[in-house]
Parts: sequence; C-alpha cells; structure tokens
Amino acid sequence: MSNPIGWGFIGASTIAREHMVAAVRAAGHEVVAIASGSTERAQAFAAELGIAAAYGSVDALLADPNVQAVYISTTNDQHCAQLLAAAAAGKHVLCEKPLALRLEDAERMVAACRDAGVVMATNHHLRNAATHRKLRELVAEGAIGRPLYARVHHAVYLRPVVQGWRIKDAAAGGGAILDIVVHDADALRFVLQSEPVEAIALTQTGTLGHAGVEDGVMAVLRLDSGVLAQVHAAFTVRHALTGFEIHGERGSLVARDVMTVRPEGDIVLRDEQGERIVPVAHENLYARGVRCFCDAVRGEGQPAADGEDGVRSLAVALAVAEAARTGSAVRVAEG
Ligand code: NDP
Repeated sequence: MSNPIGWGFIGASTIAREHMVAAVRAAGHEVVAIASGSTERAQAFAAELGIAAAYGSVDALLADPNVQAVYISTTNDQHCAQLLAAAAAGKHVLCEKPLALRLEDAERMVAACRDAGVVMATNHHLRNAATHRKLRELVAEGAIGRPLYARVHHAVYLRPVVQGWRIKDAAAGGGAILDIVVHDADALRFVLQSEPVEAIALTQTGTLGHAGVEDGVMAVLRLDSGVLAQVHAAFTVRHALTGFEIHGERGSLVARDVMTVRPEGDIVLRDEQGERIVPVAHENLYARGVRCFCDAVRGEGQPAADGEDGVRSLAVALAVAEAARTGSAVRVAEG
C-alpha cells in the first residue's frame, strides 16, 4: 500500500498479540512500536511479533515520529489517561472497550480527540462482522416487520490465558458486564438502530469471579423503539453457542455463533414462507475495523464504531451494573 499508516500499540496484551498486530498488517499498515509498563515485556512482544521499536512508557511511544495512530489495549482502568495523552500528542486513536470505567471519563476522551482534531474509534469489533451487518440490513429493510424483541446469547468460557484481572480486579475494570455486556449493548444499538434507555439485571459470582467481581449476568433492556432485549453474558459457560435473535411482527432472525471474534456463524430467516439461510460473505472483523479507521484517518470514511458509540455502549453497561447492584430498574444515562 502507498503511505501505510504507522501504528504504535499501547499494551502488550493478548488481543494485540492474537488479533490486532495481524489486523493492522492485513489492512496494509505497519505496527512500528509497542509500549508496555515493563520494558522487558515490550521487548519480548516486539521480538515475538517483529516490531521495530519497544518502549517502557507511553510517553516514549508518543514521542516516536513514526507513530501516527495508536491502538490502546491495556486494562480498562488505563484507557482514559493513555488516550488523553495520545490525543494531546496529536495521534489518532483506536481504543479498546470499555472506553473507561466512568461515563464522564469516556466523554472527556471524545471531547479531547475532537479538540485535538484526531480520529477516535472504539474497538467494538462485532460491527465488522458480516453477520451483524446483514442483520442490520435485514431489519432496516423490514424483513421481519417491526422488531419487538431481541435476545443476545453471549455466555462463553473465559480462556485460562485471560483469567487474570477480568475475574478478580474490579479496580482494573474486571467483570462480565464491562467486558461482554458493553459489546452486546453496542451490537443491539448497531443492528436495531435504536438506543437502550432502561435496564434491569441480576448477576452471578463465584465460579471464576473473585472478590465480588461478577462472572455472569442476565439483563433486560428497553430500547427507545419499544424493543425489549434480553442479554445473557458470562465467563463460565463451556458449551453454549452464542447467538443473536430478533423477533418481529412478521418474522424472526436467528443468528448462531455470531458473538465471537472469528468470521463465522450463520443467519436463519423464519417467516410465513418457512425457514431459509441468509448468505453472508465473512471477513476478518478486526482487519475490517482497522481498514475503516485508517480510511477515516485519511478523510475517506468513518470508523465502524466511533468515540460516541463507545460512550453510548458504556452508558448501557454501567446502567446494567447499577441495576444489578441496586435491584432496581435504571435509566441509561443520556450524557
Ligand atoms: P491482557 O490481560 O492480555 O493484557 C492487559 C494488560 O495486562 C497488558 O496491557 C499488559 O500490561 C498486562 N500484562 C499482560 N501480560 C502480562 C504478564 N505476563 N504480566 C504482567 N502483566 C501482563 O488483556 P486482554 O488482551 O485480554 O484485554 C486488553 C483490552 O482489550 C481490554 O480493554 C479488553 O476489554 C479489550 N479486549 C477487546 C476485545 C475485542 O474484541 N474488542 C477482545 C479482548 C479484549 P503492559 O501493557 O503494561 O505490558
């Protein structure tokens, strides 16, 4: 590609190692630097993945003139300060979800990028799934009539390699709500093109979660379109399939294996004509996300999920957390 964008990665994380370095390369761009809180970890990551520069601090990475865009994938509590520093350094930012632990912080992040004139995106990868884009298209064109209900099945088993802060450290932003429900909220917003406004929820803790960190949740959301959406997210379920169902006045869309990081899954449309599989052309979710982001940096499009999307989806997750904590129905903050 002519003029590939130089990326600096903040966070020697599992997602960076397993998906995002390859995604940047697949989209025709370059990972030129990695920063970690530990110089040794940065160097090991750089050596393993063939990255030229390894830094032991975010400031050092941001001072590297080869870095035009950064990807932040540290623990959730660090995203805000790191993004604010990147924006102040004039770097475009793709930030992992949840953007922050508090809505005010996420809003500050969006404002900082706007003021700095840099592109901000949130890595809600499911928007890049061919299945989710097809569901959105089918709903919008009225394939099932007026949508009435949705069900998101996102109960999975957390792989041992990431059974760290997620299950034992609330201060780092652990828990199934900030990890999974935030994606589910974004997927509902994207597919149904309406906003969750109210939440009720109950959580479960104890199979994997420590110190009160929830490892599963069931929530019901009311959307501003009137749709009721049921969300089941968990770290502790070994053998369930994921799924996304939308039930409308004239038909139902049943998508299986679609709440994942892989380009897979299928969609079945059921209505009075019977049942048929809807064809989709699968594509790597993360590579598409990087491509959309880089196009936006060049002024040629929009990120798949921008900073505002990250804020709105976080607001829903925080409402679910508060509903579970208080046992009451909670309005989603409008921001
Ligand atoms: P990891 O637990 O793998 O990494 C998070 C941080 O932990 C790293 O930044 C690193 O710090 C530190 N760390 C990693 N390995 C070690 C080690 N051996 N010893 C000490 N510290 C270590 O996180 P994930 O990759 O699972 O998640 C990172 C972010 O990405 C989160 O915000 C998560 O929500 C998000 N995510 C998003 C996904 C998506 O599909 N959009 C999927 C998975 C995660 P340092 O950088 O200082 O080295």
